[in-house]
Amino acid sequence: TIFVGASIGGLPVQYAQIQKAVGATERVFDLIDEQPENITPRPIKNQLQGKVEINNLSFAYPSRPDIQVINQINLHVNPGETIAIVGSSGAGKSTLASLLNRFYEPTLGEIRFDNLPATSLSLYELRRQMAIVPQDVLLFGGSIYENIVYGKPEASKNEVIEAAKKANADEFINQFPEAYETIVGERGVQLSGGQRQRIAIARAVLKDPKILILDEATSALDSQSEKLVQDALEKLMKGRTSFVIAHRLSTIKNAHQILVMEEGKIVEKGTHNQLIEKDKGVYKKFIELQKLSTLS
Ligand code: ADP
Ligand code: MG
Repeated sequence: TIFVGASIGGLPVQYAQIQKAVGATERVFDLIDEQPENITPRPIKNQLQGKVEINNLSFAYPSRPDIQVINQINLHVNPGETIAIVGSSGAGKSTLASLLNRFYEPTLGEIRFDNLPATSLSLYELRRQMAIVPQDVLLFGGSIYENIVYGKPEASKNEVIEAAKKANADEFINQFPEAYETIVGERGVQLSGGQRQRIAIARAVLKDPKILILDEATSALDSQSEKLVQDALEKLMKGRTSFVIAHRLSTIKNAHQILVMEEGKIVEKGTHNQLIEKDKGVYKKFIELQKLSTLS
């Protein structure tokens, strides 16, 4: 999963990594141009409520134009709904998340937010109202504080600490001698996967987005960290439109809609109760095989 991190008001520190990940220089400059220059937030013209519509969406990566990684997807999401996305590795789940965030543009079809074509919103406007918590969080080299405040550069110190508390991160942060000033990344302390994820959650809490995209933690986290991450994510999802690439049965069961993806297509869509009724259903088979924890 790609997380685009740049430093606060300075040089983008992960330029090389972003460039490598994106593979297209233009796209990188696009993203950098959208970073706020100073801490005065730019006005948001379209305050989103969180309705999302996906119409006939298809996508092929520029490097592999013959393969439809997303193939004719349709979806309507009401504000505040949780959409669980399940499907085996390579099904297109992360690509769909990238398209929602406009990290890539569709080959065909469109995404609409609150009845507006995604392309009519600026990237700044869209990303101020959307947060992503990836499975593998990359923090940029800098302090923990800087990594959290990045979600809302004009936030006060109190807001940052409140966000860290809601993310179940404040406690471990305070165990470092330098607390919020602790430097992370290659030249600082190494945080565990669960700790990094809680920092990303704090960043998202601070941002208070209308739309949330998250790649749920898998069993790779130690169980105590996983519980803390899970609690924080559940709080974060309340009242927001949430797309969850879901690995946990509890998240999936509680979702308003479950999308089952296979080879870029939505092969099944419905609630848990609807989908387990389907004879020979893909979802039903997943549940029966109890393979959910191994999906990625
Ligand atoms: P999932 O998240 O469901 O595992 P992905 O969206 O990551 O699936 O990948 C869907 C398909 O797109 C896979 O075949 C994968 O190899 C391909 N893919 C993913 N990222 C890229 C990329 N940057 N360039 C080309 N192909 C990619
Ligand atoms: Mg993925």
